[in-house]
Parts: sequence; structure tokens; C-alpha cells
Amino acid sequence: METPSQRLSRVRRQIEAACLENDRRPETVRLLAVSKRHPPEAIRQLHALGQAAFGENYVDEALEKQHALTDPGVEWHYIGPVQSNKTRDLAEHFQWVQSVDREKILRRLSSQRPAHLPALNICLQVNIDQEPQKSGALPAALPGLAALATELPGLRLRGLMCIPRAWGETDRVRDSFARTRECYTALLRDGHHLDTLSMGMSGDVAPAIAEGSTMVRIGTALFGPRD
Ligand SMILES: *Cc1c(COP(=O)(O)O)cnc(C)c1O
Repeated sequence: METPSQRLSRVRRQIEAACLENDRRPETVRLLAVSKRHPPEAIRQLHALGQAAFGENYVDEALEKQHALTDPGVEWHYIGPVQSNKTRDLAEHFQWVQSVDREKILRRLSSQRPAHLPALNICLQVNIDQEPQKSGALPAALPGLAALATELPGLRLRGLMCIPRAWGETDRVRDSFARTRECYTALLRDGHHLDTLSMGMSGDVAPAIAEGSTMVRIGTALFGPRD
């Protein structure tokens, strides 16, 4: 059995190896530890080892864990589908929401962000393979959503997030990441100041980093399988 410390080292080495292979500096890729369906104790252990950022998919589950964990300095990212009746919880209790895909959610998050907190960091989620059942905006909607996110006072637009189709083939996954990167560079060309391309999960870190990911979201490889 690997210890949490060994798992974290293995994942960091994997990120470093992918960076080296692509002539990138390892510091240019952040690690988001996806802790959904794992207990607060698992988060506490990784946090004590220096892991700062944690990603959650279910609002109520995340709030319970935040309540249980009083450790200062944990950075909470929401990466699950956003329902409009949950935006207040997100605006009040998270530093990042990476899964915004429509105008109504942007407006609610901005107006519900408490004035004493810094602007909420936002990534727009792209449905890059245009899967009907999946959350995320279509690429054509991104320029309008990005313009709105930039204008809203409670938000700070940081970049894009994608979850490719479960292709099962590295070449196809890499192509999805490449197309997401094209969407990102198009927004940069429009003058948006972005620094986050959130792509890559336990099974596809290497192709994501090859296509310019600046944040990989790793659950299983760090915490083991979920129920
Ligand atoms: C669950 C999840 C992950 C982590 O997936 P693993 O394959 O366990 O690494 C990353 N991103 C999102 C949006 C997720 O829902």
C-alpha cells in the first residue's frame, strides 16, 4: 500500500516528467487534488504534505468537509456541474469555480460574491467534444461568456476547463486538448488576461501537459479509487 506521501510524490514526478518531455518548467503546471467522495482526513493528510488546492464536485459534500477542516490555507475549487440554486454557497465558500458554462450562473456568482472577499476565480468549462449529456459551453459561446465574466465585478476570469470525451485513445484525447488550447489562445488574442488552462485527469496527464495544460485535476491517482 502506498502512503499519501508516496502517492503525492509519484504524481508530482509524473507531472515533472511530462513537463521535461515538452520543454516546460514543472512550476508552470499546478496540481489540483480532486477529493470528491474522500473524507476530510484524506484532505488533511495531503494538505499537511504541502498540497494547497482541492477540487470538489458536490456542493453539500464540500461544505461538510470545509466545516470539518479548520486547517488554514486550503484553497477550494468547485469543478462539478453548477445548479443555480447552489450559486450562493459557491460564491461564499469557494475560491475558484471551474465549471461555469452559462450567463445566468456568471451573473449570480458575481452578485452573490460577498464584498469582503476577493473576486471569485472563474474558469469557463468547454464542452470540447460537443457531447449532448455533458456540461460546458460550446466553443462558439466562449467569446461572449468571457466578455461578460470580465465585466462582472465579483469575478476574475482565469481561463478554461475541459473534460474530453472518454475516447480511450491517447491521440484522440490529445486532439481534444489541442482544440481546447486553441479556444484559450483565441481568448488571449481577444485581449483577455488568462493564466489557467485546466485539463488533464489521472489517466491523461501527459497529453494534457503536452498541449499546454497549466492545471491538472487528479483524484484517483492521489486518493485511490472512489466508491
Ligand atoms: C472526478 C474529476 C476529476 C478527477 O478524476 P480522476 O480520474 O479520478 O483523476 C477531474 N476533473 C473533474 C471535473 C472531475 O469530476
